[in-house]
Amino acid sequence: MSQFPWGHNRRFNAYAEYFKKCFGGRVQKLAIDAGFTCPNRDGLKGNGGCTYCTNDAFNPSYCHPGKSVRQQIEEGIEFHKKRYRRAGRYLAYFQPYSNTYASLSRLKEIFYQALNYPGIIGLVIGTRPDCIDDEKLEYFASISRSHYVILEYGLESCYNQTLERINRGHTFEDSVKALEMTARYGVKTGVHMIFGLPGESVEMMLDQAKTLSSLPINNIKFHQLQIIKNTFMAQEFKEKPEDFVNFTLEGYIDFIIDFVERLNPDTVIERFSGEVPPRYLAGPDWGLIRNDRVLAMIEKRMEERRTWQGRSFEC
Ligand code: SF4
Repeated sequence: MSQFPWGHNRRFNAYAEYFKKCFGGRVQKLAIDAGFTCPNRDGLKGNGGCTYCTNDAFNPSYCHPGKSVRQQIEEGIEFHKKRYRRAGRYLAYFQPYSNTYASLSRLKEIFYQALNYPGIIGLVIGTRPDCIDDEKLEYFASISRSHYVILEYGLESCYNQTLERINRGHTFEDSVKALEMTARYGVKTGVHMIFGLPGESVEMMLDQAKTLSSLPINNIKFHQLQIIKNTFMAQEFKEKPEDFVNFTLEGYIDFIIDFVERLNPDTVIERFSGEVPPRYLAGPDWGLIRNDRVLAMIEKRMEERRTWQGRSFEC
């Protein structure tokens, strides 16, 4: 019998357990690059992109827009087969850039290819909050009647001053609108947040837990800010390091636990940290540490602090 509302004994509403409950067995995500672009890079919203953006370096080797969706799925299945026990069921994860930034007919063409592949049981679609509308949501709602569908929005921050500083090209109001519209259509929502963005104090970051907790968010991913070399932000970090909190690993672990204590216990936490290879990073320097190790450290620390997700959540 679990002491927590999510029905298991981990101290947070863990994605792995949620996934098992949803699907009753192993399901593998396959990353796909379908060649979408981004309105913040192609001139519609801006040309330079977000100041930390570099989407190029970190795709798995099978994931490349020069290959068809079908070929990427085939190669993705092979790739994962070598590493893990065969899953048999897969989610097509449209990850790089803004995967709803195209006409509805183009979206249908791309997502149909994925949904039509044997073993694909759903779609995970990463996008920006300003790349969604009623027409597209109606389409996603229709697929979600028979498949798992989640729209993952890059919010990154709840502060417009931050969004402006990092050149996101959308506002927090756009994020709220996208989440509320998506929920109205009965489509699952995911959110991506970055902690450590310039100009944000630890207190400001923590205050966002209350804001996020009041929004219709099913799943959430957290990342510590990882500043990639040769980006605009890397230059900014060099010139004004005092504008960045620049978490140490231990400092981040205690911070994220403080955050999670304030977070709605119904929100499923999908990840706590990012793991860009250190050779790409201008900061912070945590050495070579994998996400699963960071997760184990967070869980150990939660145990030591005898705390849990939502402990100080106020409805
Ligand atoms: S929205 Fe994403 S792809 Fe577009 S510029 Fe920002 S980080 Fe890069």
